Amino acid sequence: MKITEVIAHPLSAKLPQKSWTAHESSDSAQLILFEVRTDEGITGYGEVQGGPQKLICDMAALLGKAAVGMDALGHETVWEKLFSLTSPRPGGLGGWDGLPPPLPRNSRPQIMAAIGGIDIALWDIKGKAMGLPVYRLLGGTKSAVFTYATGGYYIEGAPKNACADELAGFVANGFKAVKLKTGAFSIEDEAARVRATRDAIGKDILLMLDLNAPYTVEQCIRFAHLVAPYDVTWLEEPLHWYLQPADFVRLAAASPIPLAHCEREWHRYTVRDYIDSGAIRYVQFDSTRHAGFTESLRIAHYAAIKGVQIAPHTAAHIHGHIVSAFADKAFAAESHGAHDRHPIQHEAYIGGAHMKDGMLHIPDTPGFGIDINWDAVKHFRA
Ligand SMILES: [Mg+2]
Repeated sequence: MKITEVIAHPLSAKLPQKSWTAHESSDSAQLILFEVRTDEGITGYGEVQGGPQKLICDMAALLGKAAVGMDALGHETVWEKLFSLTSPRPGGLGGWDGLPPPLPRNSRPQIMAAIGGIDIALWDIKGKAMGLPVYRLLGGTKSAVFTYATGGYYIEGAPKNACADELAGFVANGFKAVKLKTGAFSIEDEAARVRATRDAIGKDILLMLDLNAPYTVEQCIRFAHLVAPYDVTWLEEPLHWYLQPADFVRLAAASPIPLAHCEREWHRYTVRDYIDSGAIRYVQFDSTRHAGFTESLRIAHYAAIKGVQIAPHTAAHIHGHIVSAFADKAFAAESHGAHDRHPIQHEAYIGGAHMKDGMLHIPDTPGFGIDINWDAVKHFRA
């Protein structure tokens, strides 16, 4: 089965309300739907969360051309070929060997995103060709996996502790674990938000904190000690963006709360160094941001060897399959607390994994089990 075409559909949906993490705002949900077609009539779908969408789609067109004619079931071969285009090769200058010249260094996040979209679609094709859901291809047996809901985004003018009611609402809807956005206010105000949230959700619900990189090592140690009494499962993305595994080691040595990290890493080589440092207890790769499902699997195997639990970042309908296959080596898949957080996924996808009673239920349909509502795609086209 040969790849005949790669199409990237940039989609965007206005959200009813602008919200913030500690670092950035968003007033729209975005997604690039990847479509990989084959000469046997099987089409696979992938997804990319990232931007700028136009640049990712341009890279997808370039990489897609290089993938045409390749074996659609050869995900390793396709991945290696596309990744190899990011570095110089003998005779590759100017594209004189018939392949694109070494890809621009200033577009690496977008190139890795485009590789990811194509790769995810190849796994969808593989499942459809074999008549099996992806988690079954991987040897998984669990059709239901643990999931948690993320909320507590900041909204202008809202009371500081509004997050408590919001996350208690997720619990009322069946979630047994929730994650709170923190890091935007003072350390004392953030500790108050965590305390209010713990009081609202009760003592039996797992509570994780997603910081979005607001602290130095010293600030984060202070924060960790302040919130430790509220039984926090992890501190996610705790340190400023430029800090490295050595800094995470210093934090981990002084923090009473375990660390989770790596949702923004582009490939397995930097994730390896975080895992090897011993500082992180949860690894949060994201197939839909960078490098795809194949790279996530490599990271997951490495993490399992090193005793680091996998906790993939968002895209539960895709990552739930890895969580299933890695059983007790995996913590959970991450869900949105409410559908209106991502109207595109909610409306453009038919079928796929869904949450009920705190568990993500994966259907037995082949691949990732998702059909596309093309009217919705047309509606959301950016
Ligand atoms: Mg995060």
